[in-house]
Amino acid sequence: MENVDCIFCKIIKGDLPSDKVHEDDTIIAFRDINPVAPTHILIVPKKHITDNNDFYPEDEEIAGRMFSVVRELAKKEGITESGYRLIMNTGKDGGQEVPHMHLHLIGGQKMQHKIG
Ligand code: 5GP
Ligand code: ZN
Repeated sequence: MENVDCIFCKIIKGDLPSDKVHEDDTIIAFRDINPVAPTHILIVPKKHITDNNDFYPEDEEIAGRMFSVVRELAKKEGITESGYRLIMNTGKDGGQEVPHMHLHLIGGQKMQHKIG
């Protein structure tokens, strides 16, 4: 379930601190340590799934829950109406730095670029 060398698994276990904004049985969400916008939250499955290539049908419920948590967090952050961007990086060319699958919720300011 967990990967002992993974920083997000350590955050999930509580071995590393985080600015946590949501937790349930399957998902944890915390503020990005290096935010690129007023709202920058990482939505992370508690199960160690490395990236989208490690995501299988048995995990489909987890992905659905991630999107529901996004809606809840957007409301709490007051960005439901203004909008936001969701990003999931996968692998080297995707620019993924932390190999534990996660969704970036970014909002509170207008995005400068059409993509990325
Ligand atoms: P990726 O590039 O893998 O899609 O995104 C990784 C994100 O995790 C980056 O935006 C980075 O700032 C954030 N991050 C890396 N280490 C930590 C950490 O220890 N705590 C928190 N809260 N965010 C982290
Ligand atoms: Zn992990």
